Amino acid sequence: MKPPPFHYARPGTLDEAVRLLAADEDAKALAGGQSLLPMMNFRLARPSVLVDIGRLPELSGLRRKDDVLVIGAGVRQRTAETAQLVRESCPLLGLALRHVGHHQIRSRGTIGGSLAHADPAAELCAAAVALDAEVVVTGTSGRRSIPASDLFVAPFQTALSAEEVLTEVRVPVRAARCGFAEIGTRAGDFALAGVAAALDVADGAVTEARLVGLGIGGTVQRLPEAEAVLRGQALDDALIASAAQAAADATAPPDDPRADPHTRRAALRSAAHRALKQVSNA
Ligand code: FAD
Repeated sequence: MKPPPFHYARPGTLDEAVRLLAADEDAKALAGGQSLLPMMNFRLARPSVLVDIGRLPELSGLRRKDDVLVIGAGVRQRTAETAQLVRESCPLLGLALRHVGHHQIRSRGTIGGSLAHADPAAELCAAAVALDAEVVVTGTSGRRSIPASDLFVAPFQTALSAEEVLTEVRVPVRAARCGFAEIGTRAGDFALAGVAAALDVADGAVTEARLVGLGIGGTVQRLPEAEAVLRGQALDDALIASAAQAAADATAPPDDPRADPHTRRAALRSAAHRALKQVSNA
């Protein structure tokens, strides 16, 4: 299947990319192309110009700055998944990324592309919210930061304006214990539901919990009822079962052709249970 006709531009700098995006309301940034190109092939997107940001130096690099892991938006998902720096400072990212599609997809797909695409079942979006990350974006009026918790506003829609480029992700490095699990029909498919969990545990008790569900609504979403069950309690099997049940009970997934709400709720309960078991075994 072929995409509709489009123009192609490869700017050499971020400023030039922003200018090109601002000049045409139907222009779109092209990063790894793993979501945008299939959407064009299926005629779900018809950009007039593809502004290729895949090689911009401003979007590259993985580094730790004090207590923040800074990941350039153009870093490939597979690079982040396998980087020792990520494993050591924010292991939840690696745990989540290994569930994204297949190896080949992750070798092309970028960190920024996944966040900007804002699929409600995207593993990285859930992990970013669980880790309290923020993204830095650059547009014609300069740079600004957006907390990941405010980034996803609707299915495939973010708080970025059309001419803004997501340039980096900033993830606080914390000693949180983490887990990630998802339930799907086949490995590599988008999950029916999944959970990213980051918990602070002191003296065997949970002092803070951030649980984020994916695949259960229009955006990835915190699971506050399950978090409340966990806070202040010892993380044992009974508590894990109660929290997983609370997550499922409080969720109202949509009825869509892939799965009815009952199935997705059951998938969420299983995913929450597995993610929390990982945390307790960590
Ligand atoms: P692109 O496809 O190039 O762009 C996607 C969108 O984001 C476009 O609208 C583009 O304009 C915008 N964009 C990209 N980068 C930026 C930026 N820096 N600033 C502003 N806007 C930007 N994803 C999952 O999360 N989980 C899965 O299980 C999964 N399975 C997949 C299976 C298959 C078979 C395929 C083809 C894809 C799958 N994906 C999955 C999608 C994959 O993760 C994509 O890599 C990702 O969603 C988009 O990243 P990209 O770099 O390819 O972005």
